[in-house]
Amino acid sequence: MSTLFLRTLREDPADAEVPSHRLLVRAGYIRRTAAGVYSWLPLGKRVLDNVARIVRAEMDAIGAQEVLLPALLPAEPWQRTGRWEAYGSELFRLKDRRDGDFLLGPTHEEVITLLVKGEYSSYRDLPVALYQIQNKYRDEPRPRSGVIRAREFLMKDAYSFHTDSDSLKTTYEEFRRAYERIFTRVGLDYRIVEAQAGTIGGDVNNEFLAPAEVGEDLFVSCTACDYAANVEAAHVGRGEVNVPDEGHPPMTEVHTPGAPGIHDVVAVLGDVEADQMLKTIIYKVGGEYTAVLLPGDREVDETRLAAAVAPREVELIGEEDFAARPDLVRGYAGPQGMQERGVRVLADVRVLPHSTWVTGANRPDHHVRDAVNGRDFTVDGYVHVATLAAGDPCPRCSCPLHIGRGIEVGHIFQLGRRYTDALELDVTGPDGAPVRVTMGCYGIGVSRIVASVVEQNADAAGIRWPAEMAPADVHIVAVGKGTEQRDAAERLARELDEAGRRVLLDDRAVAAGVAFADADLLGVPTIVVVGKALAEGAVEVKDRRSGERRRVGLDRVVAELA
Ligand code: ATP
Ligand code: MG
Repeated sequence: MSTLFLRTLREDPADAEVPSHRLLVRAGYIRRTAAGVYSWLPLGKRVLDNVARIVRAEMDAIGAQEVLLPALLPAEPWQRTGRWEAYGSELFRLKDRRDGDFLLGPTHEEVITLLVKGEYSSYRDLPVALYQIQNKYRDEPRPRSGVIRAREFLMKDAYSFHTDSDSLKTTYEEFRRAYERIFTRVGLDYRIVEAQAGTIGGDVNNEFLAPAEVGEDLFVSCTACDYAANVEAAHVGRGEVNVPDEGHPPMTEVHTPGAPGIHDVVAVLGDVEADQMLKTIIYKVGGEYTAVLLPGDREVDETRLAAAVAPREVELIGEEDFAARPDLVRGYAGPQGMQERGVRVLADVRVLPHSTWVTGANRPDHHVRDAVNGRDFTVDGYVHVATLAAGDPCPRCSCPLHIGRGIEVGHIFQLGRRYTDALELDVTGPDGAPVRVTMGCYGIGVSRIVASVVEQNADAAGIRWPAEMAPADVHIVAVGKGTEQRDAAERLARELDEAGRRVLLDDRAVAAGVAFADADLLGVPTIVVVGKALAEGAVEVKDRRSGERRRVGLDRVVAELA
């Protein structure tokens, strides 16, 4: 450590909001170069290499073959797939000296598809799976949390090519199992969840989320069965909603002056809860007026609404629309008679047929009681749009759902033919006729994993690396005024090194307190203190993860730690 390019910090960096960011900077693993752009210092590089090594080993084990692709990409193939436009401002675009359009690759479907197209032409060549471990570039709107959301980051991306969907499914399962092994080896607690495909396209896909408070993704998981999904893709069971008996009383209007909000009405009426109220929110969907119905205790999840009506655009109606349409009464809208007003009605799945509600009367200062779905209003379609809440019923088994936060560390897709169609990748089939190739793609955030592991493996004193992730196996600290401790520590380091252990030796002339604090901060799993006990021929061995300390005789240390 006396020559290691390392400076630990006692103070938290001012720009770091999440624990992993603070710790990785304080422990000298990473340094900020620009917003969302980081340098990896020697110990950080080792940790990053550990992730890459594990990923590489598991990819090789399923027969995927590593390639290295350029980061600097010509725009032309991206123009052909439409992503030059569609990727928007997240794409780093640049010009060369001849005014040619280039980009820094945020992902590599176009390049790899053309690469395979250039080499392969027969069904006999497939399936094939190729992968890359390299930097990707995305001009994220909000780079944050250090390397969790960076603008330059290390990703393992893999792409598989098939003549049919059965072959794709088989490979997809192999990748899924390889991912399970990778996340286990790096020491992450993870969940596999159903997810939304986003702009990349495709159908079947799963995310791997590492549960962590700082995670940007919300996911549900069933407390009884194995159902788990990103909230963006989650479904809920229908549960029990207030479905009335036959002969329910007729709908009646009630005076609710100055009570446009759900909570106002609940207060005015006194005998109604928010979840018995029906919210009617009016949007324009692809320009068409559309009322969205949901229970009063929920909000519209606009991401899910957008997904439900895609590719039509969703826009909440505003001041001008209300002014132009006096029949749509702000704060007092209800679904009754909406179709006659030219408004389509979409209801969240919780608004069951025959369920009964208190809702707006479409007249200022008035609501209605006993509005029954199917009797007093009509629903044109059901969608999953309401925000989820803990305790909602599981769509598979109806048991309560748990809601958690997680960091997306991997995402696998059965992509289909989106890219092979756009770039016309065919191979000759057994009968000589061309077959359009189908694809899978499989990403892992290599640099993001480093921070995710820290989020899950740290305490107030610092990082606690899982064994395979650690920058060293053993951290030796020599304390004491004389040279005996120093000499013994060096000897021990040499012997452990010869026994195949990776050793970090603290041979700096610093106070014992500083050396101990740095050892805890750096997080190497085993810390050996060569100090007072040396007089009795022993050292102290501390397990950084469990905190357990024990004395071990000098003559037994190497055998025990090797
Ligand atoms: P996110 O929703 O977090 O933006 P994404 O859906 O854009 O992720 P993919 O395109 O599927 O991510 O990329 C594969 C993996 O790369 C992700 O699962 C994640 O682990 C990692 N990753 C994506 N964006 C970043 C980033 N800005 N910084 C670090 N890692 C990232
Ligand atoms: Mg993204």
